[in-house]
Amino acid sequence: MTKNIASPGKTKALLREHGLSLKKSLGQNFLIDAAVLDRITEVLQLSSGDGVLEIGPGIGALTQQLARRADRVVAVEIDERMVKVLRCLFADEERVTVIHEDFLKVDLNDLISEQFKPGQRVTVAANLPYYITTPILLKLVHSGLSFEKIVVMVQKEVAERIAASPGDKNYGSLSIAVQYYAHASTALTVPKTAFLPNPKVDSAVLALVMRPDPAVEVADEDFFFKVVRNAFKQRRKTIYNNLSRNLLPNVDKPVLMACFENSGIDPKRRAETVSLREFAALSDELLPLARH
Ligand code: SAM
Repeated sequence: MTKNIASPGKTKALLREHGLSLKKSLGQNFLIDAAVLDRITEVLQLSSGDGVLEIGPGIGALTQQLARRADRVVAVEIDERMVKVLRCLFADEERVTVIHEDFLKVDLNDLISEQFKPGQRVTVAANLPYYITTPILLKLVHSGLSFEKIVVMVQKEVAERIAASPGDKNYGSLSIAVQYYAHASTALTVPKTAFLPNPKVDSAVLALVMRPDPAVEVADEDFFFKVVRNAFKQRRKTIYNNLSRNLLPNVDKPVLMACFENSGIDPKRRAETVSLREFAALSDELLPLARH
C-alpha cells in the first residue's frame, strides 16, 4: 500500500467505498493532515527494530506511517467496521496486526508478551478517542510496563493539564497521576481542521517518556494518590481544609497541623502549588493517621 490515507480526498473515498459513516460516540475524528502525521512520527523517533502499539487506528492513517518505520505494529480497534477495512488495507503487510477489542478491556501484559519479541522496544502511538483519553492514559502509565515512549493526540486542554507544573492553573491530580510515572510535554498543537469531521476543540500531541522509577518514593502508593485526589477536591480551598474534611475528618486539628509542619508545607497553601515531592512527604506523614 503506497498511497497516503491521510488526505481529505482519500479518507472520504475510503469511507464511501466501504459504506461507512463515522460514529461520534466512538470519538471518530480521523486525521487528514499529512504534515501532522509527519510531525507525530518525528516525535516518536522510531528505529527499524521497534514495536509500536497503536490504540484506535480507525482506517489506518497513522498505522500506515508506523508500518513504514517500525518492525511491528499492533493496532487495537473497537469498531468492527474499521477492523474489516484495516484487514483489507494491510492484508499484504506482515508487520501489521489488527486486534478487534476494546482497549480498556485488553490485558496489556498478555498483549505485549504475545505480540512483540522478547526485549523489543515498544512505543505507544495514538490519535486517542477523546471520550476515554484519561482511562486509557492511566491504564498505560499504571501498567508497570516499560514502554519506550507514549505519543498521543489528545484534547489540547487535557495535554495542558497533564504537562502542567505546580503553580500553573492546569496543575491537578491528573498531572500528578501521570508525572509520577513519566516526563510529560506537549510536542505540538493541532488545529481542528486537521481532522474529519472537525472536532469542537483544538488538539495537542502529548509526549510521555516513562521514568525508570517513579518520580518520588512513597511508603504507600495508593495512599499517596488518595491524598492527592482529596487535596484537589475543592480547588479554591486550602490543602488543610480539603484533607481535614475529605480524607481525615476524625483527626484533631493539632495532630494534622503537626504533619503539615513536619513535611514543611504551609497548611494555608492550595494544592495547585504543592509539588510531587511535597505531596510525597505529606502523604508519608499522614499515613500512620489513616492506618490508626
Ligand atoms: N487513528 C485514526 C486517525 O488518526 O485517523 C483514528 C483516530 S479516532 C480519533 C479514534 C479511534 O479509536 C476510532 O477509530 C475509534 O473507533 C477507536 N476507539 C474508540 N474507542 C475505542 C476503544 N475503547 N478501544 C479501541 N479503539 C477505540
